[in-house]
Amino acid sequence: MQPLLELKDIVKSFGSHRAVDSVSLSLNPQDKTVIIGPSGSGKSTLLRTINFLETIDSGSIMFEGRDVGYRRHKGHLILDKPRNICKLRAQIGMVFQHFNLFPHMTVVENAMEGQVTVQGLARKEAREIAMSMLDKVGMKDFADRYPAALSGGQKQRAAIARALAMRPKLMLFDEPTSALDPELVGEVFATIKQLADEGMTMIIVTHNMGFAREVADQLYFMEDGSFLAQGEPDEFFGKHCNDPRIQSFIQRI
Ligand code: ADP
Ligand code: MG
Repeated sequence: MQPLLELKDIVKSFGSHRAVDSVSLSLNPQDKTVIIGPSGSGKSTLLRTINFLETIDSGSIMFEGRDVGYRRHKGHLILDKPRNICKLRAQIGMVFQHFNLFPHMTVVENAMEGQVTVQGLARKEAREIAMSMLDKVGMKDFADRYPAALSGGQKQRAAIARALAMRPKLMLFDEPTSALDPELVGEVFATIKQLADEGMTMIIVTHNMGFAREVADQLYFMEDGSFLAQGEPDEFFGKHCNDPRIQSFIQRI
C-alpha cells in the first residue's frame, strides 16, 4: 500500500534548539497514529510541519507518494509557492487545543470560510457541505451561533466540522481536549472516535492514555524532539512499561 504521508528525517530548529530532531513517520490510509510525550518535546512543532505552518530545516515530506511542499535551492529547502501550499494544506485538517474559531463568524460561517476562500466553492454549496459536517458532529442546531455562545466541547466540535468541511485526507489533532472542562472531554473524543471508525486517517497528540489506547493503531513516545519508543497500544504499554522515562511520564499525567 502506498503511504498517505511519509516524513523522513524531519529537523526543525528554533535558534540553536532542535525542537524536532530527525523524525521519520509513515502513515497508510486509515491509520490512527497517536503521539504522546512531555510538554516541550516537539509534538506541536512536528504536527505544524506536516501542515506547513512551520517550515522544516531538512528532511522530506511525501504526500500520496509525492515529495511536496519544498524545493531545493543552493542546498537549502525553500517552501513551495503559496498557492501550492494552500492546496496541500486544504487536504490536511488541523484541530488545535484552543479551537481557533473566527469569533466574528457564526459556526456555519466558520465551516464555510475555507471552502469559499481556499477552495473557491460557491457559498450555497459551501453551506450545504458545512451543514452536513455540523450534522455529523452533532452541531447542526448551533449553526447560527457565534463561538462565544458555545461550551468548550461545542467549540471543539465546530472546529472539527470546519476542518472536515474541506474534505481532508488526513486530520491532525493537537491536544484537542486539553483546554476543556473534564465533563466535556468525552463528547470530543466520541466525535474523533466516530471519524476514526469511519476510516479517517489521523494523527492525534493527547495526554489521555485511555483514549490513546482506544483509538491508536500506532503509538509514539516523543521526548527532546525525537521518537524514543513506538508500538501498537498493547505492545507499547507492555513492552515499554519498564522504560523509566515512559513510566514516569505516564505517572505524571
Ligand atoms: P510540545 O507540543 O510537545 O509541548 P512544542 O512543539 O510546542 O512542544 O515545542 C517544542 C520546543 O520548541 C519547546 O522547547 C518550545 O519552547 C520550542 N518552540 C516551539 N515553538 C517555538 C517558536 N515559535 N519559537 C521558538 N521556540 C519554539
Ligand atoms: Mg503542544
